[in-house]
Amino acid sequence: MSRPCIIAVAITGSLPRKEDNPAVPITVAEQIESTHEAFEAGASLVHIHVRNDDQSSSSDPLRFAAVQDGVRKHCPGMIVQFSTGGRGRDPAARSSALSLGPDMASLTTGSVNFPSIVYENHPALVDDLATKMKAGGILPELEIFDLSHVHAARRLADRGLIRENPHIQFVLGVKNALAAEERVLDMLMGEAKLLFPCCTWSAAGIGRYQPLVMEWALARGSDGVRTGLEDNIRISRERLARSNSELVELAATAIGRHDRTVASAQEAREALGVPTA
Ligand code: ZN
Repeated sequence: MSRPCIIAVAITGSLPRKEDNPAVPITVAEQIESTHEAFEAGASLVHIHVRNDDQSSSSDPLRFAAVQDGVRKHCPGMIVQFSTGGRGRDPAARSSALSLGPDMASLTTGSVNFPSIVYENHPALVDDLATKMKAGGILPELEIFDLSHVHAARRLADRGLIRENPHIQFVLGVKNALAAEERVLDMLMGEAKLLFPCCTWSAAGIGRYQPLVMEWALARGSDGVRTGLEDNIRISRERLARSNSELVELAATAIGRHDRTVASAQEAREALGVPTA
């Protein structure tokens, strides 16, 4: 029996708006409801950004706290992961919600071009975020948008700021960053496994690459897959996704095709070494 596969759901992100897809959860209540539906469909990890009332990106710890409380109440055991990235946020505020003690937080280890901005992750900011996560017992998910980010992660481990068995996520298909090509995933994985032989890993494909990258990851025995409206708002060229849970259902079907089971929240915690809340 092969090991269970974790479904991570990125419910909101910093970009998609109601005008793009009305199913994108924006308010705290919508986020909790959407997460609960995704949890019921098999997601065991939720990646959270919060928004202001005008749908712009927010760093408001009160909003993060309210979503976390709702998820903990309605989705027992689900891993709560806060984003420390996100466009349109003041760099100094990107760690503002870490004091709330989420299970995990995203950590991008270097800068990269995005479609219309530089996604800036100054070395001092990366150090600051990693240091705060370590102090708070928060497991980072290393977001890899470039090969150099794998090597930057190694340097963090050498300095004791992250574990030797980190959880790594490769992000493919962001315009101006890593191309969504199978050989690119192989190159990144090869490097990550060399530098971190005991890592766990997942991959995220952006936009129309979401199902494709999921297949490539599953074919390589990934520990997890990522889906959700943050990365992709469509089921097909013709149709918008109805909900985050619809995307999670597709992920669960893909996992089944690879003769694997969908990880429960408890199994996800064990696989990633996240203590039970
Ligand atoms: Zn995100």
